[in-house]
Amino acid sequence: MQNDSSAAGYQPLFKSFATDAIHVGSEPEQWNSRAVVPPISLSTTFKQHGPGKHAGFEYSRSGNPTRSCLERAVAALDGAQYCLALASGLAATLTITHLFKAGDGILCMNDVYGGTNRYFRKIAAEVGFDVSFADLTKLELLKAALKPNTKMVWIETPTNPTMKVVDIKGCADIVHEHNKDIIVVVDNTFMSAYFQRPLALGADICMHSATKYMNGHSDVVMGLISLNRDDIYERLKFLQNALGAVPSPFDCYMCNRGLKTLHVRMKQHFKNAMAVAQFLEADPRVDKVIFPGLPSHPQHELTKRQCTGCPGMITFYIKGKLEHASTFLSSLKLFALAESLGGYESLAEHPAIMTHASVSENERKELGISDTLIRLSVGLEDEEDIIADLDQALAAAVSISVDLNI
Ligand SMILES: *Cc1c(COP(=O)(O)O)cnc(C)c1O
Repeated sequence: MQNDSSAAGYQPLFKSFATDAIHVGSEPEQWNSRAVVPPISLSTTFKQHGPGKHAGFEYSRSGNPTRSCLERAVAALDGAQYCLALASGLAATLTITHLFKAGDGILCMNDVYGGTNRYFRKIAAEVGFDVSFADLTKLELLKAALKPNTKMVWIETPTNPTMKVVDIKGCADIVHEHNKDIIVVVDNTFMSAYFQRPLALGADICMHSATKYMNGHSDVVMGLISLNRDDIYERLKFLQNALGAVPSPFDCYMCNRGLKTLHVRMKQHFKNAMAVAQFLEADPRVDKVIFPGLPSHPQHELTKRQCTGCPGMITFYIKGKLEHASTFLSSLKLFALAESLGGYESLAEHPAIMTHASVSENERKELGISDTLIRLSVGLEDEEDIIADLDQALAAAVSISVDLNI
């Protein structure tokens, strides 16, 4: 059967994705009550029938029934054997980095989430990790950037906010050929498990900020790590407990609930984003639109080769100066001017001033994070209303007296 994505030349959708999202981890038979919806287990401790003899759970930091339901569901959706839930995306990043020690090399894609950049530069580097950055969209630069001490390569694709697409399989092959012990991590937050499976493309670890699409309702902060390797899983499971950055049972319940509609949401995000991208690309008040789903995106073909579709993330350069970008953003009515992304509601933000303020001015310039760059997280509202809002805000921006030179 054809679907929207494969019809457009993307990878076919993952088999039984929706069925797994709804059923894996939520089997009623695991509860005496036969609850169809997994209960929220708030208990911090679990009764043992003899010292050290327990029914699978002892203390809620090391393991919790509600968390376990979520972890099993996410593992299935990522095509993984294992998943670990953490208190935030950054807690997942921190936990993964603790696989290594001071002196070890971390090579990171140069355009990443601002908090990831800040963590590697201002915390990991400060405690002795050898952190370096490279443009991993260019495989020859990756080859040159690998060092004898490199232990981890951190990829984010598409990148935030300039939507560069990294060839996951191309990178993983080069890295593992160089040294099979180097761990390749992909931050899969933008694509979610629905549009991209990094593990199937050769990555060792798939990480999500579940705060975004995976939960999808802008009401939970959480991180997820999926993987297949037993040895790394054992160590990460130890770190999940030993570092202790775990999510609450309530948040696990909420995120698991969000997953049940991931496939429905992502399809609609893609549809709405495609319409918005086409609208913006045809508009003379816009300089340039960056959306991997547009044929004009430099890595559109790669996107179709490694993804099943595209999420609602669009960046564009508005014509003019900072004043035009500011006026546009303040004039939006349906879109909320706010950080974050991936929820059912449309959001807009100014990366240079908001999400990427912690990235140095020089670096921002190099990456193209200019004063006129605007990032949209296109939500699930009606397409006509979303476009009408953008249209009226663009009109407000061109009406200000600063010279626009259109
Ligand atoms: C938000 C985000 C993170 C960090 O996740 P938190 O849940 O906010 O800690 C990491 N990577 C990407 C791509 C993100 O968008």
